[in-house]
Amino acid sequence: MTMLLPKFELHQPKTVADAVALAKKYGEQADYLSGGTDLLPNYKCGLNARKHVISLQHIADLKQISATEIGAGVTLTEIEHNTEVPAGVREAAGHIASPLLRESGTLGGNLMLDNRCHFFNQSYFWRNSLGYCLKADGDRCHVVPRINIDGKSELNNKVCVATHSSDLAPMLIALGAEATFVGPEGERTVKLNDFYYGDGIERYQRKDNEILVKVTLPDWALNVRSGWKKLAPRQSIDFSVAGVGIALELEGKKVKRLRIGLGAVDTTPVLFDYEGKDVRKAPHSYLFVDATKDAPEVIGKELTDELIDKVAMHVQTQAQPKLNVPMAPDYRKKMCGVLTRRLLKELRDGRE
Ligand SMILES: Cc1cc2nc3c(=O)[nH]c(=O)nc-3n(C[C@H](O)[C@H](O)[C@H](O)COP(=O)(O)OP(=O)(O)OC[C@H]3O[C@@H](n4cnc5c(N)ncnc54)[C@H](O)[C@@H]3O)c2cc1C
Ligand code: SF4
Repeated sequence: MTMLLPKFELHQPKTVADAVALAKKYGEQADYLSGGTDLLPNYKCGLNARKHVISLQHIADLKQISATEIGAGVTLTEIEHNTEVPAGVREAAGHIASPLLRESGTLGGNLMLDNRCHFFNQSYFWRNSLGYCLKADGDRCHVVPRINIDGKSELNNKVCVATHSSDLAPMLIALGAEATFVGPEGERTVKLNDFYYGDGIERYQRKDNEILVKVTLPDWALNVRSGWKKLAPRQSIDFSVAGVGIALELEGKKVKRLRIGLGAVDTTPVLFDYEGKDVRKAPHSYLFVDATKDAPEVIGKELTDELIDKVAMHVQTQAQPKLNVPMAPDYRKKMCGVLTRRLLKELRDGRE
């Protein structure tokens, strides 16, 4: 009944241009489909299903991979086993879901993943019994029922705090990735960090009908130490409930570059760039992480255990997990610091 895949028309274009033309034709009635490991479970729950599904599976241009360029159609398994891409990217890909899901799941689907929440990732029947919520079919939020606007507490019918749960997104923003999109208005390239923005419904700034084509890493990403760690109820299959991706460059014992991508604790992945160069303004709400607030001085300093503790505490203090995915928010918050501390020590002491 409610968990059956709804009927839709499947389109199978062979070029990006044809896929974009189909998306433009069907507008709000169309979705792109890559590996289907996120979109189709959501459709089965009656979550924002569309009548036209445009498969990107047969577009060869999306399947190229090199050390610094990964096509949106490349599978997670291919990324995991590609020895040219930075270690952190391989590790993040290799810890997503399960081996079987990684065979189908793609980079594009992972970066465009929908946000998650206990009150959203449920069957239609379940959501109906609770009166739905802002993110699908309803007009209220069960996680943050009231918010403060201009000093006044009001019913929250505006902001969704569903959790951004992609593992590759925080790792790739730490490595300075750019994303290239093709849409009806042509091609554009944006910093992946700038692409993510907004609440759990908005979550990124994609223009109408755009396809994510590829992700490009800067040359420096090949010369830094990088790694990924995640917290999940079961590491063998579950989504992250906190994740840390780090890009670290040392000059002797001193820090030349430190960028930390924090995942699964906000509505977008969050970048902590200790050079202060790559800064995205948090949406104007106390509900979201401000990565620049109270940042310790790191660049040019020796990466001692004390400095690592300071950085770990900074990440932990700023993290704002909500009670909408498994594991208690205070534990997840603490684990943001623990994962940061462990990974920074491993990278300093001689991982790749
Ligand atoms: C049991 C389970 C566990 C999971 N665990 C994890 C986990 O640990 N970490 C994690 O990060 N994810 C996890 N996932 C989510 C998912 O499997 C992966 O994120 C996967 O990479 C999604 O890729 P896909 O190709 O299957 O996406 P799809 O389901 O095909 O698409 C996902 C979304 O992206 C859009 N999309 C896809 N490709 C493009 C493109 N090129 N341009 C524009 N839009 C596009 C689709 O329209 C859709 O909205 C899990 C899923 C399941 C079912
Ligand atoms: S956080 Fe978003 S998805 Fe969760 S209940 Fe609130 S509105 Fe719904």
